[in-house]
Amino acid sequence: MKLQGTMTVNEKGHLVIGGCDTVELAREFGTPLYVMDEEFIRQNCKAYYESFTGAYPNSEVIYASKAFLAIAMCNIIEEEGLGLDVVSGGELYTALKAKFPTGRIYFHGNNKSPEEIRMALEANIGRFVVDNTYEMDLLNSIAGEMNKKANILIRITPGIEAHTHEYIQTGQIDSKFGLVLSNGQAMEGIKKALGLENLILKGLHCHIGSQIFELQSYQHAAEVMMEYIQKVTAETGVEITELNLGGGFGIYYSAGDRPASIKTYATIVMETVQRKAREFNINVPKVIVEPGRSIVGAAGTTLYTIGSVKDIPGVRKYVAVDGGMADNPRPALYQARYEALVANKADQPKNDEVSIAGKCCESGDMLIWDLAVPEVEPGDILAVSCTGAYNYSMASNYNRLTKPAVVLVNRGNAELIVRRETYEDLVQNDIVPERFKKNKKLTIAK
Ligand SMILES: *Cc1c(COP(=O)(O)O)cnc(C)c1O
Repeated sequence: MKLQGTMTVNEKGHLVIGGCDTVELAREFGTPLYVMDEEFIRQNCKAYYESFTGAYPNSEVIYASKAFLAIAMCNIIEEEGLGLDVVSGGELYTALKAKFPTGRIYFHGNNKSPEEIRMALEANIGRFVVDNTYEMDLLNSIAGEMNKKANILIRITPGIEAHTHEYIQTGQIDSKFGLVLSNGQAMEGIKKALGLENLILKGLHCHIGSQIFELQSYQHAAEVMMEYIQKVTAETGVEITELNLGGGFGIYYSAGDRPASIKTYATIVMETVQRKAREFNINVPKVIVEPGRSIVGAAGTTLYTIGSVKDIPGVRKYVAVDGGMADNPRPALYQARYEALVANKADQPKNDEVSIAGKCCESGDMLIWDLAVPEVEPGDILAVSCTGAYNYSMASNYNRLTKPAVVLVNRGNAELIVRRETYEDLVQNDIVPERFKKNKKLTIAK
């Protein structure tokens, strides 16, 4: 496992993150446990802030909160000077609970409900990223009822196929997101929006996918969008002053993943936008990027306790942990690959090879195939790295497992930012129809 962020190994041979011994974290907070490296998160925010906003003042970095959101995370993002992208009423609610500056909130989604739209207008969020013409009408009429104007970006599908898993590709024509550029649908949508009195068109948006390594895909997207901005201005006479190029910058998960630096990414994007602006003789628009995974992904580690070991001689050794697809659905969902190490034996030679199984009742609940490890035994702590993005946020209660706690570590301090769910949490929304009610107290056999 590649040690990232503040990870080290101490004299006991234990993995240390944020100055905290992970074996002690597991003992104190229980497992499974998400450990978030605060310093690493802040470093990533700073790298984005300095590479974009610092180098090009007319740009903005907004954190795609669907990667990982908790109230404390909003606080970190706010302190680092980034904006926040939300895709649901629930994410917006979390941001409002954190008293996040609402002018820095962008609202995405391909099917925002009337209630979500009302909530966002009420909060005076910065921008709605409008996905389709149905939403234009809905937003226009609700804004009218509330006597408000909505500042919008329109999401365009630029027709770019980024090389990534098809479930996380979003820029190709055959996508559920956005208005298609190539067939005129986008231009029709833009003209429609310009005619709606409660919408103020600020700019255009595209997002070509996630876990993308090829910077040419971003360059290509920027070229296509700049050319389109010029076309829109020529055809409508309206200047497009903001260009949101989405997120999706890839991170290291396992051997073979080679992400470029955030700085290189920023340079390529901004040079392309500026070059195209000169070529078309238009003003350089405000450029917005929306990273999610590359802010938090590598900063998160999941700790598990190893339990049963099933050895099938000559075939495979299955090592089961106390979590799995309920806290990390990505391997089952898109064959995502992870690295791990035995946190209490981090200094020992790896002379065995095992496969890490989850505890859910699905054969597909496997976290890692063919992992080199020292001799493992029940009670060992397994640390799976790079689980900061799309793990907690995608976690489920499948098999009625309780969602793990999230702990923020920094300089030897460990602070709980999401408490572990309890069994009582699991049944709190259940309602028992009168006819099933038993006048008995629940007794658990001892
Ligand atoms: C998911 C998403 C992002 C963030 O993607 P990452 O791969 O996490 O950087 C940005 N913008 C939009 C519209 C998204 O849907």
